Amino acid sequence: MAMNCKPVPTLDERINDIRGRTAEIINNDILPNEGTLWAARRHDETVSERAEVLELRASIQQKVKQAGLWAPHLPQEYGGMGLDFLAHAYMNEVLSYAIGAAKLFGVVAPNSGNQKILVKYGTEQQKQDWLLPTIEGTMESGFSMTEPHNPGSDPRAIDTTAVLDGDHYVINGHKWFTSNGIEADFFIVMCRVVDKSAMEPGGDRKTGPMVQIIVPTATKGVNIVRGIGVWGKRSTDHCEVKYEDVRVPVANALGRVGDGHQAAQDRLGAGRIYHCMNCIGQMWRAFDLMVQRAATRQVHGGLLADQQFTQGAIADSYIDIQTARLFTIHAAEKIDQGLSAARTDISAIKVYVPSAYTRVVDRAIQIWGAAGVSNDLPLFGMYQGARTLRIADGPDEVHKILIAKNVLGRYAKGEGWDFGN
Ligand SMILES: Cc1cc2nc3c(=O)[nH]c(=O)nc-3n(C[C@H](O)[C@H](O)[C@H](O)COP(=O)(O)OP(=O)(O)OC[C@H]3O[C@@H](n4cnc5c(N)ncnc54)[C@H](O)[C@@H]3O)c2cc1C
Repeated sequence: MAMNCKPVPTLDERINDIRGRTAEIINNDILPNEGTLWAARRHDETVSERAEVLELRASIQQKVKQAGLWAPHLPQEYGGMGLDFLAHAYMNEVLSYAIGAAKLFGVVAPNSGNQKILVKYGTEQQKQDWLLPTIEGTMESGFSMTEPHNPGSDPRAIDTTAVLDGDHYVINGHKWFTSNGIEADFFIVMCRVVDKSAMEPGGDRKTGPMVQIIVPTATKGVNIVRGIGVWGKRSTDHCEVKYEDVRVPVANALGRVGDGHQAAQDRLGAGRIYHCMNCIGQMWRAFDLMVQRAATRQVHGGLLADQQFTQGAIADSYIDIQTARLFTIHAAEKIDQGLSAARTDISAIKVYVPSAYTRVVDRAIQIWGAAGVSNDLPLFGMYQGARTLRIADGPDEVHKILIAKNVLGRYAKGEGWDFGN
């Protein structure tokens, strides 16, 4: 079924035009080819099948570029659309209706997050060396922050160290879940700058200032231990990486030493709105699939759609999607007033939307029966993705703590919460 995406009366003509043209490519070029486009992920395709797939992807990417819809997250000077925050959020819900479409629009994690950080913190040379090649598609990247022996939900717990040695940093640490790790040409690695003495037995590796450092994956000492198996897959591109005496020039540090934590917050804060809009596009798709099936499947001599259990699932899903969507748009609008004004709502949507997404996909799977968990439909991947999102980018609990802290802080000042603002 094609996505039904008509102009939104409250949006300006420019955003509606972008959404309309995005939906055209989704409906005409991506949805009809979904089975073929991502067939390479089966890992059992022949050489000629793979070549065909790559050609098809390249031709769609060309179309996207010609339509001026490439890289919505980047400024025009770097070949992107130069969209403001809200326009990008509204475009995301349309392009994520089709599985994998983000890649064909040049906005795929972790490259997109790294690109934003390079635009904001990178020197001119870093932009030439690392940003432009990822935009042109000649380089891939990863973001390496989480460590197996420290809680990722407390990013300040990291102990990967960078010790200054002349005009180089020497990096030592152990990371995991560095996504895109197999393909990446470089990682942005979250480190702590410490003195040599910290590296002695019993030394303090946990209190130095944080900095993100660009590390080419071909550098001696960057050891990819494995692609971690996830959701039953034997191996994925979420990699465990050991950094063992990795020497990189000081010029590879991104921003000032001490900016690392802020840079990670910049990356994740706004990015959570995009992730939530992606979830909404996918819920929209799951909803269409659910209703379509209910309207055609006969059970016990009648249509599924005529059963009240099914009607309940449709109504509950409608409520989940509308709530998630309006809440996310509200948070996106707040970002225009500054990230700090939106922080409580960003955490709230980061908790609410993935769980609403899980519920909607769960119902869609139920209505499809066995087909719902089959590889013939995108629902099983959505289900895994939705569940994973409750952990990645900050687990639910961490966000709930932040919401409560902000609310309680307001009341402690003698103010109530103003839900109108
Ligand atoms: C598919 C996938 C891709 C990822 N990609 C990347 C990547 O590219 N780069 C990267 O650096 N990282 C990546 N991550 C890691 C991710 O950011 C971390 O998993 C996340 O931050 C949680 O950290 P953790 O796994 O160490 O869990 P922990 O910090 O050990 O937390 C475990 C659980 O404890 C609970 N918890 C935490 N704090 C509290 C509290 N105060 N009160 C009660 N309960 C609490 C939460 O339920 C949490 O899930 C990825 C993860 C996944 C699953």
